[in-house]
Amino acid sequence: MSDYRCAKCNEHLRNIAALGFQCEKCGSRIFFKERPNIKKVLKSD
Ligand SMILES: [Zn+2]
Repeated sequence: MSDYRCAKCNEHLRNIAALGFQCEKCGSRIFFKERPNIKKVLKSD
């Protein structure tokens, strides 16, 4: 699974193998890598 999102429409990039790096929604070729959704709980005791 990819963690890339379109910089234009924020669509999740799914078909890299089929389409290459191109958004299937808007055709944009600019993407940014999304960080894994790790929730950090900061606690100060
Ligand atoms: Zn797009």
